[in-house]
Amino acid sequence: MNDAVQIPAEGHCQCGQNVVQLLGPAKWVAHCHCLNCQHAHGAVMVTWAGYTDGAYVIDEANTEWYSSSPEAQRGRCKHCGSPMYFRSTRWPGELHIARVFLLDNSIPPPQAHVFCHSTPAWMTNQNDIPHFEQLPNKNA
Ligand SMILES: [Zn+2]
Ligand SMILES: [Zn+2]
Repeated sequence: MNDAVQIPAEGHCQCGQNVVQLLGPAKWVAHCHCLNCQHAHGAVMVTWAGYTDGAYVIDEANTEWYSSSPEAQRGRCKHCGSPMYFRSTRWPGELHIARVFLLDNSIPPPQAHVFCHSTPAWMTNQNDIPHFEQLPNKNA
């Protein structure tokens, strides 16, 4: 028994039909602000966890791939459309998995923000605006 081998952890899409197994630790975790990620996810940034080939098993039968640029492909759940995966000739031998779909609490927190030149100006100082646990109480 090798203590370095982690217990397989699961992740899944919104509808639960696209499941991912993790067989090893994430190589890195980072927030990507690039325009392709923004448009593919309809979000201001995407938090990715990078896994070396062999450290994950994805559900190819329930994954639909498309080219988001000449060198990159993105994989989404065939049923609910959850944007889960990214791979590119720029990072051979690696799969990037959108962190929100992974349930493994041992994955380290993100270490960096990348491609911040694409962060919209309206995102500046957003930590300074009010944050509410749920919706603000109108009567407060
Ligand atoms: Zn799904
Ligand atoms: Zn990106």
